[in-house]
Amino acid sequence: MSVVDEVTAANERYASGFAKGALPMPPGRKFAVVTCMDARLDPAKFLGLEEGDAHVIRNAGGLVNDETIRSLVISHHLLGTEDAVVVGHTDCGMLTFTNEELQEKLGPEAEGIDFEPFPDVAERVRQSVEAIRGNPLLPDSFGATGFVYDVHTGQIDPV
Ligand SMILES: [Zn+2]
Repeated sequence: MSVVDEVTAANERYASGFAKGALPMPPGRKFAVVTCMDARLDPAKFLGLEEGDAHVIRNAGGLVNDETIRSLVISHHLLGTEDAVVVGHTDCGMLTFTNEELQEKLGPEAEGIDFEPFPDVAERVRQSVEAIRGNPLLPDSFGATGFVYDVHTGQIDPV
């Protein structure tokens, strides 16, 4: 079964019982989640989210960088969120390589690109929280809290 067949079949099952077509655009629980793209993490499940509840911003590492700030600014100023929850996780792939290694693997086109690997998940989450708190485009009232999710237990621990 191809990827297209798989996702189409899954969506047919989802849409067949769909009853949430009237949800408003602003997240009902007024917060945004920033987390890693890791396939083992399902933020809707481990944070108890339903459709319409929260923004979920994902990238490799769950980093708060310029692109994440762009999304958070829109999330807060246009769609009313008041808090961000940043969730890193144990055994993150971003701990497993250096810029030099990936640049070498990719060749000359990748020279000078920062893929933003990091050596310490909790420390990187702290930096992300500080990046949100210190950003001039987000007000002091916009909350930011960091956690590390343990891929072995499913638990989140505050950092
Ligand atoms: Zn990760």
